[in-house]
Amino acid sequence: MLPASCDVLVIGAGPAGSAAARVLAGAGREVVLIDSQDFPRDKTCGDGLVPDALAALARLGLKDRVMAEARPVRFAHCVGPRGGFVDVPGEMAVMPRRRLDELLCRGAVEAGARFEANVRFLAPLLDAEGRVCGARLQRGGREHELHARWVLLATGAAAGPLQAAGLCERRTPSSIALRGYVELPGVQEQLEGLHFIWHPRIRQGYGWIFPAGRDRYNLGVAILDSHDVQDGDGRRSMKNLNLRELFAEFCAVYPLARRLRDEGRWVSELKGAPLRCNLDGAAWSRPGLLAVGEAAGTTYAFTGEGIGKAMETGIAAADCLIDSDEDAAVRTRYAEKLRALLPRFQMYRKATSFNRWPWLVDLVIWRARRSPRLIQAFAGVLDESRMPGTVLSWRGIKRLILG
Ligand SMILES: Cc1cc2nc3c(=O)[nH]c(=O)nc-3n(C[C@H](O)[C@H](O)[C@H](O)COP(=O)(O)OP(=O)(O)OC[C@H]3O[C@@H](n4cnc5c(N)ncnc54)[C@H](O)[C@@H]3O)c2cc1C
Repeated sequence: MLPASCDVLVIGAGPAGSAAARVLAGAGREVVLIDSQDFPRDKTCGDGLVPDALAALARLGLKDRVMAEARPVRFAHCVGPRGGFVDVPGEMAVMPRRRLDELLCRGAVEAGARFEANVRFLAPLLDAEGRVCGARLQRGGREHELHARWVLLATGAAAGPLQAAGLCERRTPSSIALRGYVELPGVQEQLEGLHFIWHPRIRQGYGWIFPAGRDRYNLGVAILDSHDVQDGDGRRSMKNLNLRELFAEFCAVYPLARRLRDEGRWVSELKGAPLRCNLDGAAWSRPGLLAVGEAAGTTYAFTGEGIGKAMETGIAAADCLIDSDEDAAVRTRYAEKLRALLPRFQMYRKATSFNRWPWLVDLVIWRARRSPRLIQAFAGVLDESRMPGTVLSWRGIKRLILG
């Protein structure tokens, strides 16, 4: 039986929802965390944990637990169209989402949240003033009303829940990506680090290979958020993009991807999924409800990384609810926290246009190989000690190339 009421109902037990639930329950709130799927469940993802994800895990007190099982990674191996590469150092890791999300969800339960799997969010419940005061849920064909003082929507990139919650401003995702797992012994040395490959034949995107465990690799392609992705009428559209063709192109231009595809043992199918980026495409809140994680567009456009910011915004929303219970104060404070992240998101979005100039990517890589200062600048962007504008903007690139 589902409970009839709670303080905070968190919908979606991905990184955003579980992080929020852990913080809120730890502060003594009565939290119900639901997910439409049975746990542990898979999530189509590259499984890369970049520095902001590790920082959020530390804030949650779960970093050591994750790192005890994750595959640690010490650098991002960035490969340009002509094959030149540069290694950008940073503390990173890879952990399959099936396991990561299970650990995060357990972390929420451990702090006191009540977790209910196989429960689907259908629509918000509204009070007489139109404020969200709970949700209509469904489990096994039966509907249920759960009343809550606050609802957090952490349903990821799917447009359906956003529409049902009355937050959706754009159904189309910002980006799409596809990944699969392959096992191949004997290539570990060549596949240290997180491999990112940019090439004009991968159109507006990039390919990746991430070490996901003993002789196992997560590889895939992403089409980055791009103003170029338009249909015949100039509207944004993902209709004509074929990720499998793009994956074939990736394998054609990157020998290690080709080798994994042809000689490796596939341990999963290639599976695609949408991404929502740039903190846009949906309202961040309405009275009684806050959107957290990818539901609020928290994935970076240029890199497709979103696990860290999903947790970070889940934690931010929880902090706002702990500080105040008053609608206007909570929503204003939460909006301030998201707005503080906007410049970084905007720089990542602008950086996607560099893909149109492959020679520029080659030039930056060529220059970086000769400049410890430039590598340091990239490392600063990666660990967020530096604003991306200092390297991921025309002015920044010009300054760094000219020295
Ligand atoms: C192919 C691919 C590769 C990626 N690689 C990386 C990477 O390497 N590193 C990185 O940082 N990011 C990566 N991302 C982005 C990352 O996956 C997301 O940013 C992250 O999962 C967002 O977390 P979230 O908690 O907001 O949403 P999610 O992780 O999507 O969790 C949402 C949860 O809500 C549940 N849900 C959905 N609808 C309902 C409903 N109606 N009722 C109840 N529950 C519901 C879902 O079952 C799910 O468990 C990748 C994305 C893709 C598609």
